[in-house]
Amino acid sequence: MTLTSKREGTFSGQILSKGRIGQLYADCTDRGHLRGRVKVPSLGFPISPEEDPRGRRSVAAAVFPGDLSVIRSLGKGGYNQSAVPLVSGEIDEDLRQFLETSDQIPTALAAEVLLGPNHRVERAGGVLIQALPDGDPARLAELRARLEKGGLAKIMEAEPVATLAALAPDAVVIDQLSLAWKCRCSEERVLASLRMLEATDLAEMIAAEVPVVVDCDLCAKKYEIQVDQIRQLFAQMIKAEG
Ligand SMILES: [Zn+2]
Repeated sequence: MTLTSKREGTFSGQILSKGRIGQLYADCTDRGHLRGRVKVPSLGFPISPEEDPRGRRSVAAAVFPGDLSVIRSLGKGGYNQSAVPLVSGEIDEDLRQFLETSDQIPTALAAEVLLGPNHRVERAGGVLIQALPDGDPARLAELRARLEKGGLAKIMEAEPVATLAALAPDAVVIDQLSLAWKCRCSEERVLASLRMLEATDLAEMIAAEVPVVVDCDLCAKKYEIQVDQIRQLFAQMIKAEG
């Protein structure tokens, strides 16, 4: 979805769920660097009797109801945000609804996470197809029918190009980009967030005389900010406030 905008910047999607999962967040840059988190990562999620352990798994029971919000950067620091209520609790169905209603682009979208032995993730992927303004609606409907109701799970190969060939043998690959899990946190960003605090909060941290440990919500990396660094921030803040 990030790459369909053909713009530089970041695309982020968040689901605030009233279900057991609480919150799901993911973002991706135009370079294919993505990251994400779920609020409750250790959710018990037994396979129901009608589910095929090697096939599509429904997540709606833990996700629905809730709201989906999408933030797209528009370059030069501008952002566009839209939010809609979830319609199903299945991530792909909800994103497809969002794209069709909010962006008004005819879309086919399916995403699957397939489990192997010991219920470890064996394969995960997704297919997003959008029609151009002069696109063929019947072709899109045909592809959508093949992807829906667990259809993607049956044809998903380890290589995306192989999945595409199984879905649409006549498709032509014109560009490829590898996606990678890559967090963009840094000590600078942690310091920037400390600068947003009140001077009195920083004064308390200095008085405590212990380093402040900040965990990244997304990659769990720990940043230890030394008392001297906080002292510097405090001095800068006091100076700026006169
Ligand atoms: Zn991080």
